[in-house]
Amino acid sequence: MTTLKQVLCGAAITGLVAGTSSVAGAQAGISTLSTDWMLAAEHVLLIGVDGANFSKVLEYAYTPDSGFKTAMDQGITGTASLTNHMTMSGPAWSTILTGVWDDKHGVINNLFRPEVYSQWPSVFNLIEYHRPDIETTIIGDWEYLNELAAAGNYPADNNVFVPFQDSWATTDSLVVDHTIDKIMATLDNPDDISSFLFSYQVQADEAGHSYGSGSEQFEQAIINVGGNIQQILAAIAHVKAITGDDWSVIITTDHGHQQNPDLPGFSFGHGFQSPNETTSFVIFDQAGQDATDGTQNLNYSITDITPTILALFGIALRSDFDGSPLFADPAITDSHVTPEDLKQALLSAIAMYGYPNIGNEISLAIRTVAGAVPYGIDLASGEIDKLLQGIVDQDIFLISGLAHIVQHINSFFGGMTVDLTSMLARGIGYLTGAGVIAPTDAPLPIPPGSAEFSGSAEPLPVDAVFAASDVGDSDLPGLLDITALAG
Ligand SMILES: [Zn+2]
Repeated sequence: MTTLKQVLCGAAITGLVAGTSSVAGAQAGISTLSTDWMLAAEHVLLIGVDGANFSKVLEYAYTPDSGFKTAMDQGITGTASLTNHMTMSGPAWSTILTGVWDDKHGVINNLFRPEVYSQWPSVFNLIEYHRPDIETTIIGDWEYLNELAAAGNYPADNNVFVPFQDSWATTDSLVVDHTIDKIMATLDNPDDISSFLFSYQVQADEAGHSYGSGSEQFEQAIINVGGNIQQILAAIAHVKAITGDDWSVIITTDHGHQQNPDLPGFSFGHGFQSPNETTSFVIFDQAGQDATDGTQNLNYSITDITPTILALFGIALRSDFDGSPLFADPAITDSHVTPEDLKQALLSAIAMYGYPNIGNEISLAIRTVAGAVPYGIDLASGEIDKLLQGIVDQDIFLISGLAHIVQHINSFFGGMTVDLTSMLARGIGYLTGAGVIAPTDAPLPIPPGSAEFSGSAEPLPVDAVFAASDVGDSDLPGLLDITALAG
């Protein structure tokens, strides 16, 4: 499939050839000339910011020195709601990177399971299968996402994991350094290789868990991430001016954090359905699109991100996708508005988000708490009990009672393996609607000559599933979202 840009460039080049050759030569030239060699490369950058309440982004980082505002000024911004879906990193990043909700991919916590991404191929898999000429890269500091990019038979070309440094701010800065190096490398790209780059920042989520999203630390983390994005966007502007390559940029978050105005320093984290947790955002700057800069779209969803990236590269979309390309689906493009005051308009959009119906809220809460048990077993069951007691003590309507029940389950299962409680959690996940929809698209074919098949279209026995997952390594970054529950 040829992108619009390639058609336009191809036409321009055809015109150029026709204008500079004899008529006969030009005719011969047009029919045989491959124009691809003269086209600039196309690049897509996805910046993932974990746990960034959008209201806080607007409050702390809507400033000229912040990359958040620069990106909003250069693109279209939409608030996006996760209502009726889990507000946990594993489930939400899986949605962002596969284009389907948790009722399909079935991820209920942050325990990595590679077979998920064989049934529901990631954006990396889909690009690598359809367009192996595109260079795909992940640079991040949460291992789950590096494992996700490595999963499936068509993994990312470059998988850069940055381990914890002396602080999460320093760790994120190192991710930014690697990201900028990768962007600068496109200056030396004689073959005009196109690329997809996913760059991930974790410090806002960490600060939210440790200090609450009303804290100074959270404010500083949002400001830091904004500064980091500003540097990345400056690098893109620099290389773009020299190479003429097209760069599209998408920025998003996986969930927000609860906020308790009475206890700004207390963190209950996320995992439930309050609007502060379910409100995400998508900032989209499409290469070559300037007319809509600084505007808003009322119909963006995090499920649109993978379809958008694929469509930008001219890759056919799966019928399974829950989202569609942000620039091509009329249901989305018709929801484009030009507010007088973008920040105010975005705040108004956030204010309109509410809670799901009570039945969904309860079943999602059950799923979150149940999913937390096998996850927390790494912490030892005494820690889980403490964490659940924290929820009980909060006396939150229904959820506290639920946590109390799970406390009993935990004391029963305490000392047993992750496998058993994972099976239980996944069973509860299934009963509450996670992973209940099977794919209609066929799995990607096994690469010819491939000795290894790293996933399975059939569900694996639970033992095999958890033998394959990397539970032992999921120490600090892997436990991010559950520390939420510990407060
Ligand atoms: Zn997260």
